[in-house]
Amino acid sequence: MVSFYTRERGLVEAVARGIGKPGSSLSAAVEPFTLSKLFFAEGRNVDYLTQCRVIEAFYELRRDMTRYAHASCACELVLRTTEPSQVVAGLFTLLESYLRALASGDADPQVLSWSFQLSYLRLSGLAPVLDRCVECGEELGAGAYSAGKGGLLCASCAPEGEAGLPLSAGSVKYLENLAEFDPDHLRRLRLTGQARHDLQAVLRSHIRYHLDLSLKSEAFLRRLRRSDDRHPTSDQRPTPNDVG
Ligand SMILES: [Zn+2]
Repeated sequence: MVSFYTRERGLVEAVARGIGKPGSSLSAAVEPFTLSKLFFAEGRNVDYLTQCRVIEAFYELRRDMTRYAHASCACELVLRTTEPSQVVAGLFTLLESYLRALASGDADPQVLSWSFQLSYLRLSGLAPVLDRCVECGEELGAGAYSAGKGGLLCASCAPEGEAGLPLSAGSVKYLENLAEFDPDHLRRLRLTGQARHDLQAVLRSHIRYHLDLSLKSEAFLRRLRRSDDRHPTSDQRPTPNDVG
């Protein structure tokens, strides 16, 4: 059984017979992150993958562990938050542009990944509210982000003793701008250390709170970064199979 995200039908889970056999014509299409034209036969209970034509294999994503982990994060997010046959308008195009930009290797994979996640939240109607206070509606350029409230709170609405995550006007702008996935813009973007910290913190807690999800592939990315810090040239890094 293999999961595919399709343009017309959203998530499709289908049986791909014989993919383990040498020379199987279907095996190329079940490689992760591969863009293909697929043909399914409808069975009584499940669909069967009958034919495929690979359009873009995105080999680069399977050769580089960091990019593999970022691509896995995006696919895991889609797989764990959409139901079979539920079509989220624009999601297929977003996923395709994201994998293409990641494979091209000319933008920071982490920035591409944050932009994918923010765009995904926007398409799903779950984006954090950033232009006004979620409680009183006052227009804001900066404020305290609250995952539980789903966005920014002004100084008078932020509960006493519960700080939230203070966001500068700069970090709020990045969060707003990155919610449109635009590879040309992302290629040129240089984020400050503070903005990177804020983006990571907001996205992690927003996804955890609103989708009840902690991405396994993100934990893998964190281990990969730690292992890069410890053994810059070692082969003792975690393997992609750890993504699960
Ligand atoms: Zn307020």
